[in-house]
Amino acid sequence: SLKAGIVGLPNVGKSTLFNAVVENGKAQAANFPFCTIEPNVGIVAVPDSRLQVLSKLTNSQKVVPASIEFVDIAGLVKGASQGEGLGNKFLSHIREVDSILQVVRCFEDNDIVHVNGKVDPTSDIDVINLELIFCDLDQIGKRLDRLNKGKPKDSQSKVKEEAEKSALQRIQEALLDGKPARSVALNDLEKDAVKHLCLLTMKPMIYVANVAETDLADPDKNSFVQQVKALSSDLQSGHVVVSAQVESELTELPLDERTEYLNSLGVSESGLGNLIRATYSLLGLQTYFTSGEKETRAWTIHAGMTAPQAASVIHSDFEKGFIRAETVAYEDFVSAGSLAAARDKGLLRSEGKEYIVKEGDVMLFRFNV
Ligand code: GDP
Repeated sequence: SLKAGIVGLPNVGKSTLFNAVVENGKAQAANFPFCTIEPNVGIVAVPDSRLQVLSKLTNSQKVVPASIEFVDIAGLVKGASQGEGLGNKFLSHIREVDSILQVVRCFEDNDIVHVNGKVDPTSDIDVINLELIFCDLDQIGKRLDRLNKGKPKDSQSKVKEEAEKSALQRIQEALLDGKPARSVALNDLEKDAVKHLCLLTMKPMIYVANVAETDLADPDKNSFVQQVKALSSDLQSGHVVVSAQVESELTELPLDERTEYLNSLGVSESGLGNLIRATYSLLGLQTYFTSGEKETRAWTIHAGMTAPQAASVIHSDFEKGFIRAETVAYEDFVSAGSLAAARDKGLLRSEGKEYIVKEGDVMLFRFNV
């Protein structure tokens, strides 16, 4: 599944948020094989109210939500790229994730020490960016040295290496200017050529502004949140506001008391849904469904995938043997009330190999085995 790494300076609320995400995932999906693989890795269900609706319409025996793997990556401190703290170990964990969630402290609490003495999101974000940038610069420097020394094997590798060099030089310039690699415009060939380096500042990043419970109703009043928003757009990143503390308290409450507690804080839903949705949209991910008596299930794909590619997420054989897909939009399925009714009304379409799957499509694949 998709991997999101939670990073941030010490004492900003990373573990609190991670634990809340994992506990909440367990509560939301009683029959989902969620798990905590290691103390710092948790697989959680992606909340999606459409699943229950579909499962009722098709009398499904079970519901299987999409999942995201969250990794709590501790150890990012000033100097990590030079081997301070957990240093390299930390950086190798971060290299493996698909997206980075950076928790930024936006709450004041004199009892909880801030590593730099005061709450200052701009400085915190700078510190972490610099560590990631140092690490990328180091890697790019080594790679360029190697490319400059070696000779390409053939003309095809020459084209690829030239593309890589040109891309790396531009990325290097951006990094030296304090900008992340993801801010550099690359063509498809260049993107492909630098992919193997897994540059840290190339990964999509979401800033998670961790606010006090009293700020949830109107987070923009908090000047720290304003700083995070402004920086996140400068840095080609997303942002969400949560209160890790509130999320953690919510997990202690019975489900039916959670809404009441949220309402008392002036909000209607938990921030975790927002966090997951932001991760999805930043990564360009979307959901399609399969639904029948056996199960109703959400599948995660990249926006723009064709029907056979979407089918391959279920099983790789489905792509090879793909014949066609019977497809109905979620809203159309719900308004028709059943697959048969949707077919009668002409809402269930038969789509071929070229069909680009849309968000919320309910699909039935026909294939040869
Ligand atoms: P980490 O070092 O980033 O993993 O931080 P922790 O999650 O361990 O949190 C550090 C301390 O801050 C703990 O005592 C938390 O209870 C507290 N904390 C976390 N989030 C909040 C919050 O939103 N408000 C307040 N007041 N305290 C928080």
